[in-house]
Amino acid sequence: MTSESLDSIFQRAIHNTPLFKAHQALQSDYVPDHLPFRNQQITAVGEVLAPILHQSRPSNLLIYGKTGTGKTVVTRHVTNRLDNTCKKQHVRSSFVYCNTRLSGTEYRTLAELANGVGLKIPFTGLALSEVLTRIQEHIKENALHLIFILDEIDSLVRTFGDDLLYGLTTSSEKVTPGFISLIGISNDLQFKEDLGARVLSRLSEEELVFPPYSAEELRSILTDRACVALLPNSYTSAAINLCAALSGSEHGDARRAVDLLRVAGEIAEREGVGQLEEKHVRIALQKIDQDRISEALRTLPLHAKLVLLSSIHSSRNQQSKSSSGLVYDNYADLCKKTGLEPLTQRRVSGLLTELDTLGLVTATVINYGRYGRTKRINSQVSLETASKVFSDDQAIRHLVV
Ligand code: ADP
Ligand code: MG
Repeated sequence: MTSESLDSIFQRAIHNTPLFKAHQALQSDYVPDHLPFRNQQITAVGEVLAPILHQSRPSNLLIYGKTGTGKTVVTRHVTNRLDNTCKKQHVRSSFVYCNTRLSGTEYRTLAELANGVGLKIPFTGLALSEVLTRIQEHIKENALHLIFILDEIDSLVRTFGDDLLYGLTTSSEKVTPGFISLIGISNDLQFKEDLGARVLSRLSEEELVFPPYSAEELRSILTDRACVALLPNSYTSAAINLCAALSGSEHGDARRAVDLLRVAGEIAEREGVGQLEEKHVRIALQKIDQDRISEALRTLPLHAKLVLLSSIHSSRNQQSKSSSGLVYDNYADLCKKTGLEPLTQRRVSGLLTELDTLGLVTATVINYGRYGRTKRINSQVSLETASKVFSDDQAIRHLVV
């Protein structure tokens, strides 16, 4: 890009009427002071955790509901407030939050926990059980009262099974006089079926379901948020209504609603028109769907990326006949080219289910009666899109460029 065209971008930005007064209020990690329509859930989480204030171990809590129903924001809101109260009352406590989909592996999830309680462990190289033992000893020695939040835990369990949760839920006896309480958050309503009976009964000492928002509730949430984030008179109520309607069409997803409003605002600001209108929301909708795919690809664990690439290759070579067996052979091949040890068929099957949940492949089970069954895999992502995203990943860029 020439320096003139850059200059003109900057000049336009200087002279354009701004739309945002607090852009951060539309970002995903923002925790608003008020969370309308979630009083019942806030109270329930608060009641489960409150015993920590008199040094008793709170019950483990399993929270589930679809994406954008406020699970993360409610949990963070309550734990932030409780953390403050603990500090004021001089109650010993630590709160550690980990998004296990983003941490990607069991090892890194435990490493984040260790880090959160001030324990140094090597970046790789220890056995999982060793890391867990060190964390348990640390909690015991320091008599820590720990609340560990495992967000998007369904994604980790689908890929690795429930061993980590088993290890954590059975830690209690080993860490006295300290304790660990777990909050597991799942976007998948069927998640409980992936858990073994022993883990399930321990993790779900308490359970809480978050229902989707109605379009009317989304409209009200967005109106509040627009008020904080955008300048007065810089948006039409029709634009807000459209964001709410578009986000309520599948299930009431507040994340999509907030994202739509932010992206539409950015588009309108760049255009320099001074007001956010419905047409900007429609452009934002397309952009968001494209970004969602890129973001999902970017944050996949390494082996899931390889499985996705294999699915794309097999779908291309075999048209509609690509079976999970073929994907596995392809995947093992890519592992070899990358110098990695392939995961077992069973793990890869778990990864395919995860990719299906993310909408990146479709996996259809085909029954051959007494000849057994197989999964037919179709990639929903083009090789071009995957190549573009994966070329930024040092570990596998040699496979796509
Ligand atoms: P989940 O974890 O269930 O997928 P989040 O907690 O991440 O959903 O919420 C998605 C977005 O919607 C966040 O930006 C959050 O701040 C916002 N949000 C969700 N529920 C509410 C609410 N009741 N009031 C205000 N904002 C909300
Ligand atoms: Mg969440």
